Amino acid sequence: MAPQGSDATDGDEVTTLEGAEPSIPGVPNDEDEAQSVIARLAADGWSEQLIPGSDPATLRCGRCREVHPLSEWTIDDERRLEGASDPADMVLVVAATCPSCGAQGTIVLGYGPEASATDSDLVAELPLRSPDGRAR
Ligand SMILES: [Zn+2]
Repeated sequence: MAPQGSDATDGDEVTTLEGAEPSIPGVPNDEDEAQSVIARLAADGWSEQLIPGSDPATLRCGRCREVHPLSEWTIDDERRLEGASDPADMVLVVAATCPSCGAQGTIVLGYGPEASATDSDLVAELPLRSPDGRAR
């Protein structure tokens, strides 16, 4: 696998974000990719920041500050971003709607062997759509 394709189109393994172009060719940055997914979702209305609650598998709403078990949130979207630099460094961007106030927000969760217990507990509760993260 060539680290740098001059002008070649990306393979279908790559998570494509229509209209988004990597700023640095060859070595995409995981954080940048997550940020661009979040920016895209924010533009579509998921503008609140969600954070893990203090109990396992709970989320706190960035708008109303209420904490609810993840199962009570409406999960609107999940985007898996496989680590570009390190395959073990995998993150999942989740878009969800608050059951209390209806705010739409996003959270980035790590998954895989390197993920924190907090993130793993949340990911375990997600209704994952398919192994490659694409909607069926
Ligand atoms: Zn809320």
